[in-house]
This record gives sequence, structure tokens and C-alpha cells, in this order.
Amino acid sequence: MNGASLLAPIAQRLAGKVALITGGASGIGESTARLFAKHGAKVIITDIQDELGFSVCQDKSINGAISYVHCDVTSESDVQNAVNTAVSKHGKLDIMFNNAGYAGQGKANILAVEPEGYKRSFDVNVLGSFLGAKHAAKVMIPAKRGTILFTASCATQSHGLTSHIYTAAKHAVVGLTKNLCVELGQYGIRVNCISPHGVATPMLLKHMGIDEKKKAEEIISSSANLKGPVLEVGDLAEAALFLASEESKYVSGVNLVVDGGFSTTNAAFEQSTKKFFT
Ligand code: NAD
Repeated sequence: MNGASLLAPIAQRLAGKVALITGGASGIGESTARLFAKHGAKVIITDIQDELGFSVCQDKSINGAISYVHCDVTSESDVQNAVNTAVSKHGKLDIMFNNAGYAGQGKANILAVEPEGYKRSFDVNVLGSFLGAKHAAKVMIPAKRGTILFTASCATQSHGLTSHIYTAAKHAVVGLTKNLCVELGQYGIRVNCISPHGVATPMLLKHMGIDEKKKAEEIISSSANLKGPVLEVGDLAEAALFLASEESKYVSGVNLVVDGGFSTTNAAFEQSTKKFFT
């Protein structure tokens, strides 16, 4: 075998593609933007944290491949402007990753659920996803190609671990994924979502009420099914890369669960019956 080929640079799986990522200033969105850029895409990140968003673009290692546009996903005019910016700057939109999310308050008793909390969670997680898909579809339908992604959550698989509102909102994202997959398939547009298990981002740290990433990872790992690896934002970026690239050209309507098998089993059964089964 020719040794030089082993040392060749990685094949760019998104060369010539244009991607828009909401909630791209931090966490999963930021990591995905960096990976997409590394694979040759031109990336527009959008967020409401402007300073953070601009700082991602200034990183010299990404060679100007990422630009930032302010966009509150709950505002239709903001979302439309973000899509228009991608098209006017780069001529098209191939990948729309609706990733911005809102965790809201921790697990609340059903009696304590307030309409305001419900509205904010559904506005960001559901309406924001819907608007992103709508305006992406507007430009993807005439092009007869494109891929739309969403970030749902492992709360769509393992229940009772997050608030009722967040769980319901993320289920709605999965429903949207499946319905859109059916409607947009005729135009060659694929639609999929990713459901991460707990990953130590600013959102999760705030939700857990701790400020140390390592501590959060330890807590999550202690209850993990898959022992050894720790789930990191880069793992979700890799899942998004797969779903955005030609490697998944016939994959649509899928909720790709990245939870190390957590939702496949029920650890409580093993714990409470340990002494009876040998
Ligand atoms: P993060 O806080 O690092 O990133 C979320 C980003 O979304 C932030 O930059 C925030 O400013 C932005 N955002 C919030 N509201 C917005 C709005 N109205 N308009 C535009 N941007 C907005 O957190 P993350 O964990 O990377 O979250 C990304 C997605 O992953 C979310 O949809 C979240 O629900 C989902 N998720 C996270 C986890 C986890 O454990 N971290 C697990 C399952 C699902």
C-alpha cells in the first residue's frame, strides 16, 4: 500500500455545501459549525448571543468559513433574514440545522406548570424549528435538493427525566421531522433529527445548577449504559455531519438517538433485583 495515501488530508464531506445552524454560538451548534467548516462547507451560524457568535467566526483556524447572523428563532422575520443572508452570500442553502433550544426550568410538578414557561419552551423548541424548516424549504423546494436537521433530545426516548414541557416540545420536534420527511421527499429533500443524551454544554450545566463541565460529565457517566466514552458535543457534530452529507443520501425521517444505549434498557430493574438473579 502507498504510505502517502494514509497521510492524505481528510476527504471533505461537505465541499461546496452551504449550511445554516441555529443556536450556533455555543455547544452542539458551535461544534457542528466547526466540523462542517473543516469538511469544506460555508457555514452561517445564528443565535441571540451576538458576542459569542461573532467570536466563533473570528477564530483564524476556520479560515473565514463561518459567519454570524443575529436570529431569534421565535421571530419569523429573523429566520427569513438568516435564510436570505445564506442565499445572498453563498448563492444557495443545502443544509438547515434547526438546533437552538430552550431547557426551561427543571422538573416541575404538573401542578406547578405555568403557561409562561410552556410558551417559551414551545416557542423556541417547536415554533423555532418549524420556522427554520419553512424558510429553508422555500429555497430548497425549487432547488429540488437539501437536507433539514433538528436537535430533539433523548427526552423523546427516556421519560420522566426532564420537565413535562421540554419532553413534550421535543416530541413535537420528532413529529415535525417525520411529517416533513413525507411532504418534502418528493422534492429530494431529506429531513432527520438527532436526539442527544446529556452532554455538558452551558445549557445542561445551567439546568443541573453546576458550573464545572467535568463534574457534569461524571454525573452523567455514572448513570450511563455505555461505560468508558464520555458524550461530547463533537459526537453530536459527527452525527449531524453524517446526516448532512452524501453518506446518508437515502436516510430520511430518522430520529438518530445518541445515548450510548441508555434508553434501550431500564437500569432500575437490574438494581432492585440484583440479589435475586445470579
Ligand atoms: P447551548 O446552551 O450550548 O446552546 C444552545 C444555543 O441556543 C445557545 O447559544 C442559545 O443562545 C441559543 N438559543 C436559545 N434560544 C434561542 C433563540 N430564541 N433563538 C436563537 N438561538 C437561541 O446548549 P446545547 O446543549 O448545545 O443545545 C443545543 C440543542 O441541543 C438544544 O436544542 C437542546 O435542547 C438540545 N439538547 C441538549 C442536550 C444537552 O444535554 N446539552 C440534550 C438533549 C438535547
